Amino acid sequence: MRLIILGAPGSGKGSQCKWITRDYDVPHISTGDILRKNIADGTELGMEAKSYMDKGALVPDELVVNILKARISEPDCKEKGFLLDGFPRTIAQAQTLDAFLTAEGVSIDKVINLEVPDEEIMSRAINRRTCENPDCKEIYNLRDNPPKVEGVCDKCGSKLFQRKDDNEETVKNRLEVYHAQTEPLIAYYSEKGLVATVIGQERLEDTIALVKEILK
Ligand code: ADP
Ligand code: ZN
Repeated sequence: MRLIILGAPGSGKGSQCKWITRDYDVPHISTGDILRKNIADGTELGMEAKSYMDKGALVPDELVVNILKARISEPDCKEKGFLLDGFPRTIAQAQTLDAFLTAEGVSIDKVINLEVPDEEIMSRAINRRTCENPDCKEIYNLRDNPPKVEGVCDKCGSKLFQRKDDNEETVKNRLEVYHAQTEPLIAYYSEKGLVATVIGQERLEDTIALVKEILK
C-alpha cells in the first residue's frame, strides 16, 4: 500500500501514522523525523536543513526530494509500500514523486487529507510534548493528554521535550507556509481521484475510526 497523509503541521498526522504503520505493516516515512535525525547526528544535510526548520520555513525541495527518493528505494518500501508523512509539501515535490513512482511502475493508492482548524492547531502545538526516545516517540498534550509524571514518558520513562518549532511564532509561520504551499496538493491529488478527507476529531480514537473507514 502506498499512502500519503496530508494535513497542516500539528493536525495529528503523526498520531494517525503510528497506528496505520502498525496495523497495515507499512513503513512510516516522515521527512521531518529524517531531517531532525540528521540534525541530531550533525550531518551536513542536517546543518543545512536546521536554519530553515527553526524558522518554520520549508527546507529546499532538492534536499528533501533526495532523502525521500533514497528512503523509498530501500527494500522495506519496495516490498511493503510506504506511508508518507510530511512529504510532498509542495506541488514541485509531488510532481517529482509522481515521476519517480511512474518510472518504477507503481503509484499512490490513497491520499488522506486530515483537516483541523488553525486555532485548534495552535493550541495543540504549544501544548505538545514528545518522548525523546527514538524507539518510542510517544506524543503528549499538556492540555488533554498529559503524562502522569511531569516531563516523563508514561510508556518508557524517557524525558519529554518540546520541539523547538512548537512555539507560537513558528507555528504561525508553518501554518502560513502550509496554506500557501501544501494545501494546493489537495486539489492536485483530487484531480487524480485519490483524496479522502477526514475532519480531525477532538478525541484521537474518533479520528482513528474515521481513517479506518477510509482504508477499508
Ligand atoms: P509537522 O509534524 O509539524 O508537520 P514535520 O516534522 O513534518 O512537521 O516537519 C518539520 C519541519 O521540517 C518543517 O517545518 C520543514 O522545515 C521541514 N520539512 C519536513 N518535511 C519537509 C518537506 N517535504 N519539504 C520541505 N521541508 C520539510
Ligand atoms: Zn517514551
